[in-house]
Amino acid sequence: MNTLNPSTNPTLSIMEKIAGHEQVVFCNDPVSGLQAIIAIHDTTLGPALGGCRMAPYASVDEALDDVLRLSRGMTYKCAAADVDFGGGKAVIIGNPATDKSPELFRAFGRFVDSLGGRFYTGTDMGTTMDDFVHASRETSRIVGIPEAFGGSGDSSIPTAEGVVYGLRATIETLFGSDDLSRATYAIQGLGKVGFKVAEKLLLAGATIYVSDVNEAALAAIVTQAEMAPGTVRVVSPHEIHLTDADVFVPCAYGGVIHAQNIALLPCKAICGSANNQLADEQLAHVLMDRGILYAPDYIVNGGGLIQVADELYGANHERVLLKTRHIYDAVLEVFKESHAENITTVEAANRMCEKRMQIRAKHNNIFTNTTKPKWDIRNH
Ligand code: NAD
Repeated sequence: MNTLNPSTNPTLSIMEKIAGHEQVVFCNDPVSGLQAIIAIHDTTLGPALGGCRMAPYASVDEALDDVLRLSRGMTYKCAAADVDFGGGKAVIIGNPATDKSPELFRAFGRFVDSLGGRFYTGTDMGTTMDDFVHASRETSRIVGIPEAFGGSGDSSIPTAEGVVYGLRATIETLFGSDDLSRATYAIQGLGKVGFKVAEKLLLAGATIYVSDVNEAALAAIVTQAEMAPGTVRVVSPHEIHLTDADVFVPCAYGGVIHAQNIALLPCKAICGSANNQLADEQLAHVLMDRGILYAPDYIVNGGGLIQVADELYGANHERVLLKTRHIYDAVLEVFKESHAENITTVEAANRMCEKRMQIRAKHNNIFTNTTKPKWDIRNH
């Protein structure tokens, strides 16, 4: 198992940087203009899974640092979501607004296919489902494509479901009951995930405070509240994290909790979908000292990952929602471990994932003479 943290230290050689990874593939296709890097961090739990980003990286080094960091994060995210995948990620160097073409994504698909099932991928920042429809003409190792092409469609549905499970585990830990109506919530961002979370909380009879820069989303949730037992109050985007609600629910963007605002947070807990909510992981210690319960984002927002991983069994929304319940158990386990060991919830989450990988590594000892994952129905 390779859990070393790749360093972004510019003095390190490439081999030193990738020391914690199993495999890093540089892809170059001058005909389509494709320049990409695929990083496979760890396949203890199964083939690597991770989205493909496209961005105008200033240098290959910058792209390499990004793909190494992101693929390592996927190893932990897959372990937390209890899916049979390891961590991987890909980056395409280029401007998503001007450098895309069907040929470029087909070339990328051929590189993915050349890995023989060691890496599965799909959309991420800068890429769309349509891009991966092109890639899927060259390889079956693509997930998260539209339902019309055999994919599982909108992943924000299970992501929102998972956030609500995370909130239940948080409320249970705070108040000894997972009845959502007993707490108040400050939701930052009413996009694909945040809006659905807000709807579910209103249906459960909770009082929610909401903010968004999009007036239409605010108007829509106020309308929803008229038909639900819960109550909604609109708050300015500048003040949502200062709202006196029990739980702060970040569902807009990363880095919302930083050194300048952490001392001002009035909430008892933080649990939302946004990636990388803490501007710096060390801030988890400050939250712990302040008695604020932090549900690690990569566990809470794993519903979308559960859906794309499940796609390889044949799309089935009901089964995905059942599997998303793992998030409730995982968040509770992390809170209990953090309390018992007097460590931050981020440390407890990382330990839980490392333990899961160690257990699986120990039991992956029977050679079965199969090279293809048996569960991928498209391999037959
Ligand atoms: P989205 O783009 O649909 O929604 C983001 C919302 O935040 C938008 O409504 C936007 O107007 C709002 N917003 C932007 N700036 C704001 C501000 N200053 N204050 C308040 N609101 C603001 O994105 P999404 O798919 O709902 O994802 C939300 C977060 O969850 C992102 O960080 C995303 O990376 C993460 N996430 C999403 C999924 C998924 O399945 N969609 C999965 C895992 C993680």
